[in-house]
Amino acid sequence: MAERPYIVGNWKMNGTRAMLAQARSIDRAAQNLMKVEVALAPPFTLIHPVHREAEQIGVGAQDCHPLPDGAHTGDISASMVADAGAKFVILGHSERRQNHGESNALVREKGTAAIDAGLRIILCVGETEETRDDGKAESFVTRQFKASLPETLASPEESLTVAYEPVWAIGTGRTPTVEEIGAMHRAIRATLVELYGEAQGTAVRILYGGSVNAENARELLAADEVGGALVGGASLTAESFLGIVLAAA
Ligand code: PEP
Repeated sequence: MAERPYIVGNWKMNGTRAMLAQARSIDRAAQNLMKVEVALAPPFTLIHPVHREAEQIGVGAQDCHPLPDGAHTGDISASMVADAGAKFVILGHSERRQNHGESNALVREKGTAAIDAGLRIILCVGETEETRDDGKAESFVTRQFKASLPETLASPEESLTVAYEPVWAIGTGRTPTVEEIGAMHRAIRATLVELYGEAQGTAVRILYGGSVNAENARELLAADEVGGALVGGASLTAESFLGIVLAAA
């Protein structure tokens, strides 16, 4: 595992102000677990409230628009989430790719906008079950990753985190084997080194995401080249999320 594992909770479309108590508990516990970097990506409406509560944990958004402003009813720009206190944005999540038809090109545009707004990005990639069954998981993910990255990244080791999230493992209770995770993370690492060189390419963290919970976290986090976890369902209560944080400590 990485020297300082990064555990990020993605609350998806869950949470009203009542959930701030969970964020508070997570933040308090994180203050005693400095060996782990902990962050939450609540829905847009809770970014500022969580930011105000948080002394230790990082706060991020789950999406942003590719343009800085304009006539885009209902959309939120990167500078808006930064203004609300976000330090990063999750981009290219498979739920956005599937439910909102987001292409690699759009994810790339959003990433560029996020970097321009001073945000770090967590770029999600992952194959469907069909692609894995066809034996094409690594070539698919490598292509998807390259096509979704912002064109230029001055300091990828600071501004980029990659999250490998097999689509078929998200919210299903199913996970790849430790060997499969390691093989995919090595392929992503090789691509990072090819693109950014040895020093910067090896410094970018690669998270695993997909049905991580307090019981399986230790084993999954021990897979080759895994620098932490992106956690959905199990991040919704402080108890289950902190179980994963503890497993990473
Ligand atoms: C996710 O959606 O990013 C995720 C990993 O979800 P879950 O942990 O619920 O599988």
